[in-house]
Amino acid sequence: MAEKKTKGQKLAEEILMNPKSLTERGQGFLDEASKFCEGYKEFLGYKTEREAVQYVIPILKKNKYTEYDSKKKYKAGDKFYMVNRDKDIIMCTKGKKPVSEGIRVSVAHLDSPRLDFKPHPLYEDAELAFFKTHYYGGIKKYQWTTVPMSIRGVVMKKNGEKVTIRIGEEEDEPSFLITDLLVHLARDQMQKTASKVVEGEQLNLLIGSWPYDDEKVAKKVKLAIMAILNEKYGITEGDLESAELCAVPAFKARDMGFDRSMIAGYGQDDSSCAYAAFMAEIDTKNPEYTTMTIFADKEETGSDGVTGMASYFFRDFVEDLAQAEGAEVRHVMRKSLCLSADVGAAFDPNYGEVWESNNTTYANYGPILAKYDGGGGKYSTNDASAELVAYVQGILRDADVQWQMGELGKIDVGGGGTIASYISLNNIDTIDIGVPVFCMHAPVEVAAKADEYMLYKAVYAVYNSKKPKEI
Ligand SMILES: [Zn+2]
Repeated sequence: MAEKKTKGQKLAEEILMNPKSLTERGQGFLDEASKFCEGYKEFLGYKTEREAVQYVIPILKKNKYTEYDSKKKYKAGDKFYMVNRDKDIIMCTKGKKPVSEGIRVSVAHLDSPRLDFKPHPLYEDAELAFFKTHYYGGIKKYQWTTVPMSIRGVVMKKNGEKVTIRIGEEEDEPSFLITDLLVHLARDQMQKTASKVVEGEQLNLLIGSWPYDDEKVAKKVKLAIMAILNEKYGITEGDLESAELCAVPAFKARDMGFDRSMIAGYGQDDSSCAYAAFMAEIDTKNPEYTTMTIFADKEETGSDGVTGMASYFFRDFVEDLAQAEGAEVRHVMRKSLCLSADVGAAFDPNYGEVWESNNTTYANYGPILAKYDGGGGKYSTNDASAELVAYVQGILRDADVQWQMGELGKIDVGGGGTIASYISLNNIDTIDIGVPVFCMHAPVEVAAKADEYMLYKAVYAVYNSKKPKEI
């Protein structure tokens, strides 16, 4: 026989928060989440913004998306996309209401911390060949040594031809690595602070050691490597000056834990949010408001440049949509809503001291809805209004979507920003939402499958809600 609840217990249930783990939703939900994440793991194999954009285009076409044509009149339910310089993509489903009533946007970024190559990357030292890198985004540099790496990117040849490179990922392909000092000789290194243990100029990728067979040549190993590149890709050393090449961890995304409840893989900041929003976009068939799912670039370096969210490409596109319906872009923006979909931190008990226990976010507790991020005295943050947070929460509640709110960590231990600030410049109500991850910006990051799936449901709920935004 069930015990009767006391008055206090009943009151507590009524007026206090009682966060529950998503795992309490039962095995059926967890199985759905696992199934959803099979596609996510595949998506994680496309590790740069260019690769991910290329990956989604055929999927979009299969789902009846066509390339955007500013002269075409779109009707409710029509789906279209626009690519910006191979690095961003905007995907839309036309709503029943005119865009002047507002659109539902979500933005996630495709770029992740990595090691870009310098303009003159190839050199030889001590009869070894290296590529010199310049790290991209915020990393703990020491984490990137002794990790198998693959090389990706594009090289423009003098004849205008573009060569795409992707090597080091498959079983039968060679791998690359940044060396670290052997522990036996590391007495001095071990005394250094973590930011100095490995320095930027030591992040050099070891790429070869066999010399070119010619007595008369000075740098024989360098020449031998360039000869291989020339034979394989038809490129010369001069072509590397304009190239966009980088090294990323060569691991494949895989299930983690005996229970397979998590995923370990490179680039989950922010591919976890990108994939969730992408699937929500595809699954949205006849929305009230036009949806707009954006994969952005350059978030990790500050959103600058023509492919970053500080560029006008987003506003210009909305302007095109507005003009096609005789509306003004500023009126569309004012009525719209944007989810800045970016990851947050999952509480890690091994480093529990950096979190403040009342405002901590946990794996398996759903996507993190963040009113603000930034650092210190709330610097550099969008800080969503009470009205907006409540409006979005209402949509999520109606769709049985679970979220959690908190802060990145203790106030004075650090901080971090998202693209929300750049989007809100357009006078569009913006709020952050994203998957909690472990070891953010490390070569391998970890996220819980249940959170990834719940973020998909959250974006889907926002895209499919008929509730007007009266803010
Ligand atoms: Zn991010």
